[in-house]
Amino acid sequence: MKIMVSACLAGENCKYDGGNNRNERVLQLFEDNEVITVCPEQMGGLPTPRVPSEICDGVVTAKDGRIVDAEFRSGAVKCLEIAMNEKPDLIVLQSRSPSCGVKQRYDGTFSGKLIKGAGVTAELLIENGFKVIDVEDYYESDYLE
Ligand code: SF4
Repeated sequence: MKIMVSACLAGENCKYDGGNNRNERVLQLFEDNEVITVCPEQMGGLPTPRVPSEICDGVVTAKDGRIVDAEFRSGAVKCLEIAMNEKPDLIVLQSRSPSCGVKQRYDGTFSGKLIKGAGVTAELLIENGFKVIDVEDYYESDYLE
């Protein structure tokens, strides 16, 4: 299978705080599959580390008040272009991110409150018909068993 994953899940230090979300089960995918890693926030031109962001009334905004919507959406489009070219069978993304979150995201108040809804990259990939799952569901799924 060809699988696209959030780069931070593969251990790349692309998270806003300069760390990663290394996930051993995601790393196992590299053994038997062709894996493509993407970090839409870096691909949109944002630095690492960077100020964390949330989607506030539909606009991606950094915690310091700067509007970073254009960077987030540019990164999402670049991920979509890669997906269109590579045609992955499955896309596994990091939970709750304003880019990669599939089921939930923070509510835009920077208070830790979660709401239903996807990040901008996950949303774009889903809208374009790709099979996208949250890494938490991948744990419970039998997609690759
Ligand atoms: S944008 Fe996605 S891949 Fe990049 S650090 Fe955030 S969750 Fe990980």
